[in-house]
Amino acid sequence: MKVAVLPGDGIGKEIVPQAVKVIKAIEKKYGLKIELEYGEIGGEAIDKYGTPFPEKTEKLVLKADATLLGAVGGPKWDNLPFDKRPERGLLALRKVLKTFANLRPAKVYDELVSASTLKEEIVKGVDILVVRELTSGIYFGKPRGVFSIKEFPLKDYYQEEELKGEKVGINTLKYTDEEVRRIAKIAFEAARKRNKKVTSIDKANVLEATSFWRQIVEEVAKDYPDVELNHMYVDNAAMQLLRWPKQFDVIVTTNMFGDIISDEAAALTGSLGMLPSASIGGEKGLYEPIHGSAPDIAGKDIANPIATINSVGMMFNYSFNRPDIENLIDRAVRDVLKEYRTKDIHTPGTKLVSCSQMGDLIANKILELD
Ligand code: NAD
Repeated sequence: MKVAVLPGDGIGKEIVPQAVKVIKAIEKKYGLKIELEYGEIGGEAIDKYGTPFPEKTEKLVLKADATLLGAVGGPKWDNLPFDKRPERGLLALRKVLKTFANLRPAKVYDELVSASTLKEEIVKGVDILVVRELTSGIYFGKPRGVFSIKEFPLKDYYQEEELKGEKVGINTLKYTDEEVRRIAKIAFEAARKRNKKVTSIDKANVLEATSFWRQIVEEVAKDYPDVELNHMYVDNAAMQLLRWPKQFDVIVTTNMFGDIISDEAAALTGSLGMLPSASIGGEKGLYEPIHGSAPDIAGKDIANPIATINSVGMMFNYSFNRPDIENLIDRAVRDVLKEYRTKDIHTPGTKLVSCSQMGDLIANKILELD
């Protein structure tokens, strides 16, 4: 197993070494051989190579079986033009790896129920996996942009009174059957390993492209008779997530709805520092915490490394087909949390530890557990 490790900027440099401690512990416990190769991305790559995603890093991730990323960005590079910013490195990385499915679990740990802004009985036991389509939909559809009305490519589709003014802005929601089918399959496969329920979120009452989405998801569902499927309009889903989130197991949705819904689901858990993500669908997966480089706390050894450690768990599950290792990491994290916390989730009665101490505690716990 070969893993490309890209710590990136800010707290990336502090949290990734903790995730590496966990990889080393797993290696030892199971007698595995996991080769780690480090590369640069984001701001530090700009400083060193003048680009956020150097060729050297591209070669590295294509050679590896999976990529573990910390985070990119920071005030130092905030004034660069958009196409030269650290975050561009991330988009380039996703493109190279052809990862069309973004998986974001939102799990509320019993130990951290009080960190949520919602009542305990609403959030206790919440365990949702949001599967977001990542490479198509309205974020990529064409035509797109701002046109003078005279040069508007879809002029013929409109009545004259619908095109009053000088300019028109447009984005296009596009999905092919194949694009829907492949993301739906990922959702159903994931549900099979969980509680066997998929909720597909769309706006089928208003948008034809998502009514088509619904139809294709129904077709895919026929191959998964053991998985329950229901559909929900996005406005209702946004409300249901706050009202009774425990009704959801796997959510599958379009790029834009997924962008919004996955943040909402994450917010239920109340702890940004805990949430991992996986981007899969290409030959190799990309694993990273959902948070950014947190420049406000960088260099202080106080960041929470658990989101990155949980991303390692997802890597073992999705890239190396070892859900048992993901479970073990999850158990180790829960056990450690009973007693120890980093600053962002610290509560009275628990011991405050640094980022690196948390990494040591979880890695040691992995070695201890049966
Ligand atoms: P952020 O996620 O970095 O931080 C938001 C808040 O959460 C901050 O107060 C931070 O201290 C806290 N936080 C985040 N992760 C934490 C952790 N592991 N432990 C404890 N506290 C944590 O978002 P931001 O401040 O909006 O962005 C900072 C930089 O990160 C920007 O340059 C942004 O572009 C970049 N960013 C990168 C990614 C990525 O690499 N995937 C994602 C989001 C933002």
